[in-house]
Amino acid sequence: MKQNKYIVLLVEDEQNIRNLVATMLDTAGYQTIVAGSCSDAKTLYASYLPDLIILDLGLPDMDGMNLLNFVRQNALTPIMVLSARANETDKILALDSGANDYVTKPFSSGELLARVRAILRNHRFSAEEGRLPGGKFVCKDLSIDYDARQVFVKEEAIKLTQTEYNIIAFLSENCGKMMTYAAIIKAIWGDYAQEGSIKKLQVNMANIRRKIGDKPGEAEQNYITNELGVGYRLNE
Ligand code: CA
Repeated sequence: MKQNKYIVLLVEDEQNIRNLVATMLDTAGYQTIVAGSCSDAKTLYASYLPDLIILDLGLPDMDGMNLLNFVRQNALTPIMVLSARANETDKILALDSGANDYVTKPFSSGELLARVRAILRNHRFSAEEGRLPGGKFVCKDLSIDYDARQVFVKEEAIKLTQTEYNIIAFLSENCGKMMTYAAIIKAIWGDYAQEGSIKKLQVNMANIRRKIGDKPGEAEQNYITNELGVGYRLNE
């Protein structure tokens, strides 16, 4: 295995698309491994532990959602769904099941590569030291140093627990987007069904918001918006 190369597992049964995307990824410098079915993908996933999975949903043996759920049982490996299914229900289901992004076919190669780069750049949780490029998130007076796993407000370091940090880092990856309770819980704890998980999230969120200085009732000035019963958004 070559060093310093991201491994991308491409799961796609249509040979034309598979070849096209694989060539595109190889040219862009990724190490690409391909699977044409869900069961092949599971085997390859287990032996290669890829940095990213690009996943078609319509596969011959099982629905691609099966692989998504399989991976999410115990790993936060970024997953980009690449599907012809364009309706909102499928998107929400995939995103809430832990997909990091959803690209609808047909797509342009430029768009796909940009989104691959964005996912890899933003994905921090499974970062083994030095393996992923560093970076910073800045939004008004709030900044996050992903390498140091440190959040700052007005350049003052905020003391967060590991879980609180993971949550705000996750929200920052999805800045501007309302993330459902289920989405956040899956990303952080990997299991939505766990009893009391929403309560646990709310407690952590309350602590984060207090620590970064968000005040109830000042929605305009706050970094984080809570849509009751739906989720949280880190505002752009
Ligand atoms: Ca397909």
